Amino acid sequence: MSKADMGRRYRLYPTPEQHDRMAGWGHTCRALWNLALEQRRYLYRQRGITLMGSAQCKQLAQARADLDWIADLPSECGQRVVANLDAAFLNFWNPDHPAGFPARKKRGRHMSIPFKGQTLVVRKLNRHWAKVKLPKLGWVRFRLSRALGGTIRNAVVSRDGSGWHISFGVHTGRKPDAPNGKLACGVDFGVAASAFVSTETEPRRMPQTLKPNERKRLGHLEQRKARQLTYAKKHAGGKYSNRLRHTIAQIAKLKTRQANRRQDFTHKLTTDLAKNHGIVGIEDLRVKNMTKAAKGTMDAPGKNVAQKAGLNRGILDNAPGERRRQLAYKCRMYGSLLVAVPAFHTSQTCAACGKVDPDSREGCGRLFLCVHCGHEDDADHNASIEIEARARRTGGSVTNSTRSTTVRVPAARRRRTREALPATHG
Ligand SMILES: [Zn+2]
Repeated sequence: MSKADMGRRYRLYPTPEQHDRMAGWGHTCRALWNLALEQRRYLYRQRGITLMGSAQCKQLAQARADLDWIADLPSECGQRVVANLDAAFLNFWNPDHPAGFPARKKRGRHMSIPFKGQTLVVRKLNRHWAKVKLPKLGWVRFRLSRALGGTIRNAVVSRDGSGWHISFGVHTGRKPDAPNGKLACGVDFGVAASAFVSTETEPRRMPQTLKPNERKRLGHLEQRKARQLTYAKKHAGGKYSNRLRHTIAQIAKLKTRQANRRQDFTHKLTTDLAKNHGIVGIEDLRVKNMTKAAKGTMDAPGKNVAQKAGLNRGILDNAPGERRRQLAYKCRMYGSLLVAVPAFHTSQTCAACGKVDPDSREGCGRLFLCVHCGHEDDADHNASIEIEARARRTGGSVTNSTRSTTVRVPAARRRRTREALPATHG
């Protein structure tokens, strides 16, 4: 069966009864994930057994007979949770995947309930509304903000600070565009300037994600939360009051709004890059290494902890991993080629004469002044031109049928290829 190749997310409008039941299921899914994870860790540590999902699904079926709170959750959801845990472990074991060890899910984070796509029925009500039939819940309405455009393969009901949503994995069957034959560009993603495109003279900056009054309100809410937390600890034995819960919900709402605006900017930027350029060159950065905490350990405390934390916030605010993920599928869609070039010395290389010299970045300001030929430019623009040049050099030779160099090869296939090839190829 053809897989989902596109995601669609809509706002869900459950009735109060559906809301309560879904919230209960959300907690059940989280508890199941944590239980299944703990069981795998325990068995591996104590007896060296690697437990996989198939065995746990059998136990889950038994647990449903004994425990009402598990039995209330549709069985397909529980099975999907275990299957997702399997996928998380496979990613962790895959040396080419950045995922770390599967983490426990904390209470109060986004909750999500996975469903199987085959069982779902969606019916359009009118131009703006549709409804989806979920097991045990019946029909739930959602805002049809755009067409589904394909057959549903899976669905996830989730809740964040702004309310309930449903995401469908959809098989659209859309074929990638033919090479669009447009100009190449290089992009330098910075902390100060969000993105500098080599063909432009001004950097593209992300607008403020919170308006001044929202920022002020967030500050007040954080203060109130701290005060209410102290009170809860001192006088209520750590029990959260309804007011405290309300404050936390208000903060989550603002933070979700902020995250949505950031996502909106990133989507517009990556669409424009992929649609209007033939080759998009970016730096091949390992986000994890870049943002590793500077804190260090007790014995070896890190240097410049505060500065590094600030830089980390800057880097994560610009979401490099997410940008790359979007560029990868959009470039394939719009017939352009994404090339991730090695990041060594892009900021110290002169775009005019090609000489590498750290002295050209005297004082580490925003200015690049070549000590060899006197070429003068904005440092990020200079770097973006170097990235474009590197992308052109590799871009010509790697053109293949999928028109993307960053398509992730499944782990099994990679391993096979590596074994088949001589060692020099790695
Ligand atoms: Zn120069």
